[in-house]
Amino acid sequence: LYTSKHKVKEKNLEDSLINSWGSKFYQDNMYPFISNFWKFDISNMSKDYKARVTPPRIRYAIQKIFEFKNKRDFKSNTQQSLESKITIKDKPKFRNFYLYPKFGCKRVIDFLKDDIILNDGIIKTNSIITDLNSSNDHIEIQYIQGKNVYTDVFDKIYWAASILDLINLLKLKNYNQLNYRKLLTINIGVDKKDLLGDKVHASYVMIPNILFHRIHEPNKISPYMTPKNKTSACLEITLDKKINNPTDLVKKSLNQFCLFYNLKKSEIHYLGCNYYEEAYPLLFIDYNEDLARFKEALSKKTSKISLIGRTGQYFPYNVVETLNSTL
Ligand SMILES: Cc1cc2nc3c(=O)[nH]c(=O)nc-3n(C[C@H](O)[C@H](O)[C@H](O)COP(=O)(O)OP(=O)(O)OC[C@H]3O[C@@H](n4cnc5c(N)ncnc54)[C@H](O)[C@@H]3O)c2cc1C
Repeated sequence: LYTSKHKVKEKNLEDSLINSWGSKFYQDNMYPFISNFWKFDISNMSKDYKARVTPPRIRYAIQKIFEFKNKRDFKSNTQQSLESKITIKDKPKFRNFYLYPKFGCKRVIDFLKDDIILNDGIIKTNSIITDLNSSNDHIEIQYIQGKNVYTDVFDKIYWAASILDLINLLKLKNYNQLNYRKLLTINIGVDKKDLLGDKVHASYVMIPNILFHRIHEPNKISPYMTPKNKTSACLEITLDKKINNPTDLVKKSLNQFCLFYNLKKSEIHYLGCNYYEEAYPLLFIDYNEDLARFKEALSKKTSKISLIGRTGQYFPYNVVETLNSTL
């Protein structure tokens, strides 16, 4: 209540979180979560980053308090005057319909693949781009596939990968503050029907010293994701440095996961982990200035490259925003 009346001037992510959550809730809950997620000083982060957990709506919270008291036959003049001011449109709206592939997101790749091939596209996987040369009317790309080196020529390219790679390939000035957080996901089969509770598909961890910041339970979005009466979990851990061997981190995370959900070791099955090099663009406080300078340098160097997507445009878009930005 105090924070809703006394907002601080928002200079950074910390200020914006305090304004929307209140300083006590921020200190106790949001701080451990956000600092574990970003592995960065929150007061040096941009308020452009919007944490994907919705802050409380003060009118709704007050309404709920009165509803609770109402159940105990508590009625006061204040409540009546407040109730008369709160209308149905103040109630928060929940999205309760998701489009999700029956057997998970990996299936989306098959549809995309078929569509690209149907439209005479060519897909080249496991290729590493090693050189880019741009002239007035084309751009030449050199890449390695297996042990062979190839060169292809295009009118124009759309770059959806890391802009750090682009900076290196084009030998641009080093914008060393532009950086991404890496991500390790750990997949676990669980011999239980349910883990997070009814209708909850993801849970954000706000407890200090827990290695993972989010737990995702895929069969809450599609029941076909696990065998009947079993479930699975995906733990997410952001990293500020590359790790060559995740064994220790995986072991500690599995232990914490068992403690967290009161599971016996025999009830869980480690299914493997995935490592993503450039998962989250780091929105440090003046990232926009560095990004603008980089884009200017890029446009001076070539007009043949357009940046697209979450990694290419250096903003933590979700899938819908990514597709919209691409189209
Ligand atoms: C753990 C996690 C959970 C998420 N959950 C959701 C969710 O529930 N809902 C939602 O809407 N969004 C979610 N997102 C966000 C969503 O995944 C992204 O917004 C989307 O994938 C971004 O697409 P993109 O094409 O911009 O980038 P990416 O999907 O990252 O694609 C970039 C591609 O470039 C390739 N690449 C990188 N460097 C090179 C190089 N040098 N040469 C060649 N190729 C290269 C990479 O291998 C990658 O395939 C999640 C993201 C993560 C990491």
